[in-house]
Amino acid sequence: MRRRAPFFRRPFLAQSLIRPLASGPQQKLRLAHDLMEAGNYAEAAILFDQLAQVAITRGFFKRAPHLLLQAGYAHFHAGNIPEGKDKILRGLRLFAEQNRWQLLDLVTDRVATELNQFGQPGLSQEIIAFSKSINSSKGENGQTASQVSQGIKTKIPPKCHYCGGTLTPGEIDWLDEYSVECPYCGSAVQENQ
Ligand SMILES: [Zn+2]
Repeated sequence: MRRRAPFFRRPFLAQSLIRPLASGPQQKLRLAHDLMEAGNYAEAAILFDQLAQVAITRGFFKRAPHLLLQAGYAHFHAGNIPEGKDKILRGLRLFAEQNRWQLLDLVTDRVATELNQFGQPGLSQEIIAFSKSINSSKGENGQTASQVSQGIKTKIPPKCHYCGGTLTPGEIDWLDEYSVECPYCGSAVQENQ
């Protein structure tokens, strides 16, 4: 495969690789996570972009910011920093618009840390400043990160059994004492499956 220019969006080569396997959103999501894990970040970014857009247009607003964040990570790893930043900021803004303040705090911390490790300290600070600006503009009634983590009742698997998405403690919703909701596909994931 030819190497693409760093800031060239949506290359047709990657599209042609993806299309045969993307028969449904769930399959597409599984493929996107697999591509990410395999280090095929450019292709993963395209899929997560599409999935985030589908989530927004179909009204799956709860999942949309998580998919945007995955798209952002994939773009960063693919060397497309401006696009990655755009997706991350959109994801964080959606958390704020949905009053999911605890997630906003947790994810901001994680993104900032990863950007530092990624050699992007300036962007890391920019993300933190952005997050603070939208947080302070929307009120102070959200839970803190520690309150969220106290809600964890049992051990969860590291990945969703259905789509392969990583389940990060504190960033997922509990459906009952033994199952969590996958933030990417919405499936109920239990400890022993
Ligand atoms: Zn899932």
